[in-house]
Amino acid sequence: MNMLKKKLAFHWKILIGMALGVLFGLLTVYFQWNEFTLFYIKPWGTVFINLLKLIAVPLIIVSLIDGVSNLKDVSNLSRIGLKTISLYILTTIIAVSVGLMVVNLTRPGKVFPQEKAIEFQQKFAESVKANESSAQQMQDATPLQFIVDIVPSNIVDSMSDNANMLQVIFFSLLFGVAMVLLPKRQTKSLKKFFNSLNFVVLKMIDLIMLTAPYGVFALLAGLIVDMAGDNPADSISLFAALGLYSLTVIIGLLIIIFVVYPIIIRFFSPLRYAKFMRAIVPVQLLAFSTSSSAATLPLTMETAEEKLGISNETASFVLPLGATINMDGTSLYQAVAAMFLAQVYGMELGLSAQLTIVLTATLASIGSAAVPGAGMVMLVIVLSSVGIPTEGIALIFAVDRPLDMLRTVVNVTGDLTITTLVASGENQLDFSVANRN
Ligand code: ASP
Repeated sequence: MNMLKKKLAFHWKILIGMALGVLFGLLTVYFQWNEFTLFYIKPWGTVFINLLKLIAVPLIIVSLIDGVSNLKDVSNLSRIGLKTISLYILTTIIAVSVGLMVVNLTRPGKVFPQEKAIEFQQKFAESVKANESSAQQMQDATPLQFIVDIVPSNIVDSMSDNANMLQVIFFSLLFGVAMVLLPKRQTKSLKKFFNSLNFVVLKMIDLIMLTAPYGVFALLAGLIVDMAGDNPADSISLFAALGLYSLTVIIGLLIIIFVVYPIIIRFFSPLRYAKFMRAIVPVQLLAFSTSSSAATLPLTMETAEEKLGISNETASFVLPLGATINMDGTSLYQAVAAMFLAQVYGMELGLSAQLTIVLTATLASIGSAAVPGAGMVMLVIVLSSVGIPTEGIALIFAVDRPLDMLRTVVNVTGDLTITTLVASGENQLDFSVANRN
């Protein structure tokens, strides 16, 4: 009775929403309710994702300005920035190396049936073309283009597209730094303004999160129907052929979550990994359901501050940056996918080719947008760097979405791991908060 009276924890609500969504999706496929689900259930998932995206830009601006303007001294900022970026890159390189290690052991491409390769290439030819042309645009850029892209020429333009998150971060940092550099009396009221605005945005996130269990229900129900298409048996056979490849990616992701991150948290922060994991489960579930680190960002930031005890100064800077550039799951997946395709095509990639993969997968994951499927678009760049035919991505299209959901979980966990690390090194972590929860 007491149990019933007690409010159900947030992660249970999301889990129940997810389970019911999957169940409803399966029933839909079985009883052919496709039209009903696609017309009347799936749109609620889109509404939920839109709500999350809607709050992302205001959250970054307000929270970053509020956080930075509280700094005593801006020299801290460049130190934290450098540390954050180095750690993000280091964990990405570790993730790619883990991916390469696992794929060299399992060699999934060696058991992939050749006739399936031909079948898949015909089936997904159109989608491959679309990916190739998006990646081509990235590849055509000059080496310093990414710096040019970070500095916007019009902030209103940047704010109008969630893909321009780095530009919004840049503007907010500049704004915050300018506030710190000015005498206190000139910024007092502005500081108050951003501080209360921050409370309002956080409350808005709370309100949006009330809808999360229903949102994930609709997202997963819609996803199952989309994936099953008209012929569920067909999709089962696709999954079976790609079983070992998917398993390889999953083993790699599990090593990151259960070996690499625990070591980092255990040795470089005062938190226990079990506590850390328990606090971030809702973030992981949301990342899984939305397949987007950007859409998950509002909850990631709220969890960092309220459940892990990370200061707003650190969370507001390190997390949005991580959502955009730190994708350990994506980089691991890109390395495994590249090796898998090389094996299917009978190419032996030696040490230097694999080192090229480490480099390009690290860069490609940094360049991947924090949205569903972005990692696969950037895979084209990794493939071309070592001469693997890019049409090969047709082979792995069928299982991209489930793997995307899983790699996004690793992406957000990696962001939170490094943020915890940075916060703890900077004395910005109140670990009594995590221990209390
Ligand atoms: N969906 C991933 C993310 O948002 C990116 C990707 O790997 O496709 O983190």
